[in-house]
Amino acid sequence: MITSERPIYGLYRLLWSGLDYIYPPLCGGCGKRGKRWCDDCRESSKRIFPPYCSCCGGPTTGASLCERCKSNPPAYIALRSWAIYCGPIRRAIHQLKYRRDIALGEVLATGLVSMLDQLNWQVDMVIPVPLGKTRQNERGYNQAAMLALPLAYAKGIPYKSRALKRVQETNSQVYLNRGQRAKNVQNAFGGDTNIVKGHTILIVDDVTTTGATMHASAKALLEAGAACVYGITLARAG
Ligand SMILES: [Zn+2]
Ligand SMILES: [Zn+2]
Repeated sequence: MITSERPIYGLYRLLWSGLDYIYPPLCGGCGKRGKRWCDDCRESSKRIFPPYCSCCGGPTTGASLCERCKSNPPAYIALRSWAIYCGPIRRAIHQLKYRRDIALGEVLATGLVSMLDQLNWQVDMVIPVPLGKTRQNERGYNQAAMLALPLAYAKGIPYKSRALKRVQETNSQVYLNRGQRAKNVQNAFGGDTNIVKGHTILIVDDVTTTGATMHASAKALLEAGAACVYGITLARAG
């Protein structure tokens, strides 16, 4: 469906649907022919509903803040994710990230668009979590940017991919525990004061696990002068 709210977003979606005619897509979640992300996969994704921690969006036992956020408040104001990282959304993110199925970015971002509509956060800048130089060169694209750009277009918010950089190459977070993850990304990011100063920023990533990357990114942006930072991801692991 092409929305007419913002011409640039309509054009962006049109571009991808045009490519669908040339290269008929397979669903990123189940491999079925027809759509990049089929209705069955969208509907069977495990969406995240309250109660959750009002800050990190993680599980909580009824309290508005989880114990971790109480004792160690993250640098971001709030972090929310569209679904649990399992089943079709997990496969789709894998396709987007490792199988160069970049057309999935636009269609998966529609989930983030409707989430942001409901969250009603007043952000004035969208920034994807950056990859390190080595990984960016290997992969050729940043999967977080493939989600952040259409989200920014849809909402009419300036998209600034250069506002946050990896200043340190980091190891993959995949096999690290919570403490190791936090340490691994601790000083990994640097924000550009000229771009972010005084702004309320939305950081976009594909998956969050412990929130360590989001925290480190938000911290770097605040240190660079951002007013405050929110985070949104497609999926939340564990
Ligand atoms: Zn499917
Ligand atoms: Zn929390």
